Amino acid sequence: MRFLSEDEIERTEFARVSKERAKSLKVKLDYRGAKNVGFKVRDPEKGTVRHVIYHSEKKEPQDWSCDCKWHATRGTFGKYCAHILAVHIFLNKMVEKNE
Ligand SMILES: [Zn+2]
Repeated sequence: MRFLSEDEIERTEFARVSKERAKSLKVKLDYRGAKNVGFKVRDPEKGTVRHVIYHSEKKEPQDWSCDCKWHATRGTFGKYCAHILAVHIFLNKMVEKNE
């Protein structure tokens, strides 16, 4: 699975608000399929849940998608929303734990 390291997230020019928001979101692994991996991302402040999916067969950056409005309008340009960034941060933490 391809995901950005925390360093890359810091260095890349994502909207600063997205980076800040990503840290307050709660991520859960939803399912693991043969081609896709799904995550649920909850915003404790707004009470909303978004679904982020990793598509192993798609090319970067389309291999990550989210069902939020922000991603629907900007995702085609390869921008990541706060939900996708939150999943990347979550995956970094999982890797650290397993090492
Ligand atoms: Zn999103």
